[in-house]
Amino acid sequence: MIHKIESANSTWKEFVYKNVVEFCNEKESRTFTLKDFTKNRLELFQKFRPDNQHVEAKIRQQLQFLRDEGKISFLDNSGHYTLRGIYLLEPEKEETKTIDLRMEKPEIREYLVETYVRKVKWAEQCRKIMGDCCIYHKCDNTFYREDGTKYIEIHHIIPLCDNGEDGLWNLSPLCAHHHKMSHFSDKKTKENMRKYLLSRVTEIVGAKQKYD
Ligand SMILES: [Zn+2]
Ligand SMILES: [Zn+2]
Repeated sequence: MIHKIESANSTWKEFVYKNVVEFCNEKESRTFTLKDFTKNRLELFQKFRPDNQHVEAKIRQQLQFLRDEGKISFLDNSGHYTLRGIYLLEPEKEETKTIDLRMEKPEIREYLVETYVRKVKWAEQCRKIMGDCCIYHKCDNTFYREDGTKYIEIHHIIPLCDNGEDGLWNLSPLCAHHHKMSHFSDKKTKENMRKYLLSRVTEIVGAKQKYD
């Protein structure tokens, strides 16, 4: 992919944000590390402002500004970031082009994106590691598609619009009924489900790591 250099008129912040979005699109993931991002884009940033001797510090500073505006979030102190909200990556746009997401509230939009977007990396990765069964109290509610595969939806336990991430610990395969329940039930049920799912995922992922 060729990266065009924007006119010298754009600010550092605009340029960093634009590159974060592009980088996430290329990786098909909203979560990235500062290290990977800087390594991948360093040359580009050096060309953007050839006089600047402290490009890495500058990038870090701009990411802080973007965080203050709610455009990205810091997941931990070791340099993990998530492009926030339900900003759509290119492969997600492709999948959802039949629905007008702009009309929906962020929470509903999130549910729709999760339900219709099945091919992006985070969903594939979760299915591969956690399987295609609903993990809510070992529920076995599913059905087979015409092509013989099981139907399953992948849910963000902590929603992206609440600073959740695409990381494995935050993803859960759910049947259509329990997925809907996790988004649209009353507050108490929702909270209990969230707690249950977070601990269940930790168990599953932990057990996998032991055997791998
Ligand atoms: Zn969901
Ligand atoms: Zn279920």
